[in-house]
Formats: sequence, C-alpha cells, structure tokens
Amino acid sequence: MFPHRCFLCGQVLLPRQYLCADCRDKAPFVLPPVCDLCGRGKETCTCGGRHHAYERCVSPFYHTEQAKRGIAALKNEGYIHTVEGFAGEMAEVVRREYGGLPFTLVTSVPLHPKERRRRGFDQAALLGRELANKLGLPYRPVLTKITPTRPQKELSALERSGNLLGVFEVTQPELVENRTVLLVDDVITTGATLDECAKMLKIYGAVEVYAVTAAAALLQKAENGV
Ligand SMILES: [Zn+2]
Ligand SMILES: [Zn+2]
Repeated sequence: MFPHRCFLCGQVLLPRQYLCADCRDKAPFVLPPVCDLCGRGKETCTCGGRHHAYERCVSPFYHTEQAKRGIAALKNEGYIHTVEGFAGEMAEVVRREYGGLPFTLVTSVPLHPKERRRRGFDQAALLGRELANKLGLPYRPVLTKITPTRPQKELSALERSGNLLGVFEVTQPELVENRTVLLVDDVITTGATLDECAKMLKIYGAVEVYAVTAAAALLQKAENGV
C-alpha cells in the first residue's frame, strides 16, 4: 500500500484524502462564471471571443502556483494519485459546464510514439482514461500524432499556426463519425493543439468536440493572437 499523497504538492495525507488543506486553500481553481469559449474565469479571459474547431474548453485550474507543480509531477512521473486527483477535478468541471451533452466517447491529445517512449507514458491518455472512468464513458485513443513537433511555447504565433498542420491523424474513423467527443489534454495555452485535433475529428465526421484540460495557462492578449 502506498501512502495517500496530495495530488498537487505530494505531501502525505490520511487515507481517502487527495488534496492537502494548504493546496485546497491556495490552489488556483478556475471559479465560475467562466468564458463560454476558453473556460477561463470571465475576469481573466483574454480570448477575445475567438472561436476554435472545438466548441468550448473548460479546466479546473489555472496553470500557476500549486497546479503548475501538480502538472509537472503529472508530466514527469505520471503518478496514479496525481492522475486521479486531476481527473476528479476535471470530472466536476465537465459535470458543471457540460452537463446534459450527449458524449459518446472520451479521447485525448496524443504524444508522438517517440515522445511516449522517451517519457514511458502519455499523461493526457492517463487523464483521459481516468476521466472516462469517472464519467462512465468509454475512452478511445482515436487520434495519433504522425509528426513530432517543437514545443508550441518555443514558437512565434505565426510559426505556431503552421507548426501543427498535418500532425495528427484519426486512426478509427468509425468511432468518430456522428459522435460528440470529449477531448482531453493536460494544459491549454493558445488552444492550437486542441484546435488541430478537433479539426481532424470533424473531418472524420464528429458532430461536436468539447475540450477539457487539467489546467489553463493565463495568457496576455498578444499571446492569444488577438
Ligand atoms: Zn498539497
Ligand atoms: Zn475566453
């Protein structure tokens, strides 16, 4: 038996607890009301009403402070308590913001096979599987990444917009056609990656694509391209 740990800071906790009191107090939760498009709080949203190939995105946390620490643990270690903690918060946001939507499957933004081998796991897939489990929906890895990419944050806005063209492919079109898809990733920055995945899902006939990420980076207007 492993001790229970806070999924954000790693501190050992009593059984059945998953967030320490300090993180519960200080964690950068995204509080409603949220922007209908980017899912950030209306006070902090800088998306300027920009539309994407996905309908909306929602996230339980901003990618700052304690949540940033948790995301780093998720990406570097893939610990089960980290995955479960984030997926639990994501499930709550999905129920609150997307309640009543007819999702037929949960899928995730894939890593390139080389990136996955280097890391040993795919953090978005771990989140997607656990979230699907909590929502009682099937998880299907229907997307694949066919070209490795440079991290989006190293690129200018112009390079970013071209960096992802043709990078993703749908492997099981029959699972996507006429479906409403819940698309999972760890962090949303500009939304370019989610956008490209949603575009591919729609090319293969998905009716609507809604996104959920564990955390949302706070952007300046210029970084958002608006
Ligand atoms: Zn903590
Ligand atoms: Zn917004």
